[in-house]
Amino acid sequence: MTKYIFITGGVVSSLGKGIIAASLGKLLRARGFSVINQKFDPYINVDPGTMSPFQHGEVFVTDDGAETDLDLGHYERFTDTSLGKLNNVTSGSVYQHVIKKERRGDYLGGTVQVIPHITNEIKSRINGATKQFKPDFQLIEIGGTVGDIESLPFVEAIRQFKAEAGIGNAISIHCTLLPYLPTSGELKTKPSQHSVNVLRSYGIQPEILVCRTTKPIPKTEKEKLALFCSVPKEAVIECRDMKSIYEVPLALENQNMAHVVLDMLRIEDKHADLKGWETLVERIKNPKKTLKVAIAGKYTKLSDAYISVVESLKHAGYANDAAIDIKWINSEECLDDTKCKELMKDVQAVVVPGGFGIRGIEGKLNVIKYARENNLPFLGLCLGMQCAVIEYARNVVGLKNANSAEFDENAQYPVIDLMLEQKNVHAYGGTMRLGAYDCVLKKGSKAAKAYGKEKISERHRHRYEVNNEYLKQIADAGLVFSGMSPDGMLAEVVELPQLDWFVACQFHPEFKSRPERPHPLFKGLIDAAVKK
Ligand code: GLN
Repeated sequence: MTKYIFITGGVVSSLGKGIIAASLGKLLRARGFSVINQKFDPYINVDPGTMSPFQHGEVFVTDDGAETDLDLGHYERFTDTSLGKLNNVTSGSVYQHVIKKERRGDYLGGTVQVIPHITNEIKSRINGATKQFKPDFQLIEIGGTVGDIESLPFVEAIRQFKAEAGIGNAISIHCTLLPYLPTSGELKTKPSQHSVNVLRSYGIQPEILVCRTTKPIPKTEKEKLALFCSVPKEAVIECRDMKSIYEVPLALENQNMAHVVLDMLRIEDKHADLKGWETLVERIKNPKKTLKVAIAGKYTKLSDAYISVVESLKHAGYANDAAIDIKWINSEECLDDTKCKELMKDVQAVVVPGGFGIRGIEGKLNVIKYARENNLPFLGLCLGMQCAVIEYARNVVGLKNANSAEFDENAQYPVIDLMLEQKNVHAYGGTMRLGAYDCVLKKGSKAAKAYGKEKISERHRHRYEVNNEYLKQIADAGLVFSGMSPDGMLAEVVELPQLDWFVACQFHPEFKSRPERPHPLFKGLIDAAVKK
């Protein structure tokens, strides 16, 4: 029988609830239990696929093609479990479903209301995921902070769910912040007490309190929190700021958090195998070198916009005992050759990540030209690969104004064009080529060597592709198409074999990298940079 753990937040947003949920997931996985995480997002967008990365950060894509919240990336990386459509629920998707049923007449003339119709739909999303994954533990995180108007239906749904599940089958964890007042030299517990009171006013008494803090929590303050918030002392867990997010599971394990959770859920504790993770954290804390890696993109003001790319680079760094120092380059600043050279001269590798729209494209082309001409290890992701093909077509093949139809519908040489299946698509939400597709790698290519196999599956999110009319001409000029869809119709990977590492892919490898198992293409990039 699946046991449920609900995670809410209070006092402030951006507490790192996602990391806490992922870390607890990791601790349960380390004990051999199966775990899935779910994220409930109170906004009205049906999914984050249509939201600007500036507002929402990265859109994480699952194998089954869902465009989801970036917390799913943390969940997958920590628990090494592949999630999907059912793991991210938004108010928009819940309302959309209920309204569709209402229009169909399913409610037989009844008044459709938040309670019970919306809350029932939310509960059915919990049960749906249980049915699909049959996990030992299901961890459900509610976005935002308790007290927000928009998250109320979710909070009410978990109140009902907990009551229906019965004692010992569902618990809730509340995450708060203990602010530090330098003038009195104290960590203050009052905001947490108030936050628990808000949660109680909705009928939920948390079983566990996780307190974010910059300083160790004195025993007296822990006791105070336990007393006022009605949780056992051992259930007041300290979560201090750490250098690396991957240290969090170990910090929680040191306080027996998983043991406390299991006890409350009436499951016997088991030995936790955290050896691999401990070795990983040792490596993270003791790098032997530092590599400066540039990310040349458009959303460089918000690092969350490329969070999986950054994590993947770090993972590849860990495998090389190297710390990765990211140099954010706004590609719009690379229009000028000398400026581009100036910006690139102190970096050991460069990534051109995915993106949409024309802004910053010419600068990205300049960055790629620099990497190609100076043998600087380069990895292109999705739009980054499309730019690599455009750059090669323009500057090596001699197709002077080669471009993508995305940026110039009337391009003289549209070397990147809209995919056939996209020609009649007009709506934006969830309509790209999304999710896992197979790809066949060329024997002996850099990509095949990195993967150690020729048949791979990777996640996609794009509308445009390499225009096959130009494939032969570009290949004849030396760019190797080293990965194709199994039917040979879609170019998936390109590379320049004579360079140390010049590889670009139409898919998003960053979604499948794991801290203990870096993605082969990121590892290839960092290995090449280290060797240099
Ligand atoms: N804009 C490009 C396309 O739609 C690339 C998308 C991406 O980088 N994810 O094909």
